[in-house]
Amino acid sequence: MQTQLLPVTPEALARAGALIRSGELVAFPTETVYGLGANALDGAAVKRIFEAKGRPGDNPLIAHISALEQLAPLIAVRPSPTARALMDACWPGPMTLIFPKSSLVPDEVTAGLTTVAVRFPAHPAARALIDAAGVPIAAPSANRSGRPSPTTAKHVLEDMDGRIPLILDGGACQVGLESTVIDMTGETPRVLRPGGITPKRIAEICGGVAVDEAVMRPLKEGEVARSPGMKYRHYAPAGALTIVKGEPGAVERAIRELYDESQASGKRPLILSLQGHIPAYGDRRVLSLGADEAEMARSIFARLRDADALGADAIFSEAVPADGLGLAVMNRLGRAAAFHIVEAEQH
Ligand code: AMP
Ligand code: MG
Repeated sequence: MQTQLLPVTPEALARAGALIRSGELVAFPTETVYGLGANALDGAAVKRIFEAKGRPGDNPLIAHISALEQLAPLIAVRPSPTARALMDACWPGPMTLIFPKSSLVPDEVTAGLTTVAVRFPAHPAARALIDAAGVPIAAPSANRSGRPSPTTAKHVLEDMDGRIPLILDGGACQVGLESTVIDMTGETPRVLRPGGITPKRIAEICGGVAVDEAVMRPLKEGEVARSPGMKYRHYAPAGALTIVKGEPGAVERAIRELYDESQASGKRPLILSLQGHIPAYGDRRVLSLGADEAEMARSIFARLRDADALGADAIFSEAVPADGLGLAVMNRLGRAAAFHIVEAEQH
């Protein structure tokens, strides 16, 4: 199959909408990461997403809508006042809500779960594509399973060339991390996956929020993941990634030592550093994560891909505090490292 890469024009959107309606896949930009979309009401079309990504069949997808009215047919309840407050405040935007599903939603979308995840994205191209298709679009991130999520059309092409007919190129994604996933089936909203909408913001809107424990640690033996995606090693570069946390000075010292040891043992190490700390690493090989958490969120997946392209086999990354947007960044980085996180003081 030939994969076309087209800028977002009315003609490209019309072609993309027609492909979705005929059961094909289209990759498209959103404000979080690029999505790989199919008609969310067509189980056979949705199955193709799993094939193209090599995604495990028990990992459900998010149904994307382009207007609030499109929510009701997908869910089996009326949204609670809390859910409505979240939708008013954060939709369209990088927030996914989980509700009991209606019979309209095929099992392929929810991987057999009785709940469905729904998002109303803000990106104009994503909304225009859903409008052009005339159906909700089921979409996970447009990477091959296990690879870092794509934040540019070029990343999608790296992973999907020859596997899908069309990629809409809308430039780089603004948030750079996947949406905040919030389970709305209990009393209190529960964050299953942190993202651009922070727990603090959710608490401000709803008066309360719970954050699933599995956000900052690996699942225990036999533990059932509330968000099935959480159980897979994800976002991973090919090289072994170690995260070093602690006081900045101690972190820099520890990373210099780890790098030098690694190099002495014949490896090709690489450092991921906040912009301001780069001089501390001298002439060692360093890539910048940006100046702050927001820039880190936008750049982290691209840097993990760069690490692969550079053939790095030992990667040492600085940590940021796991609060606010930093929680989402550290969740992704932690999972990329299979939670291999060391304290700088110990070195
Ligand atoms: P992706 O956008 O590729 O990261 O995949 C969507 C994520 O949403 C997965 O990690 C799922 O675990 C999560 N998700 C989707 N539907 C549900 C659901 N019904 N319950 C819990 N998590 C869900
Ligand atoms: Mg994904």
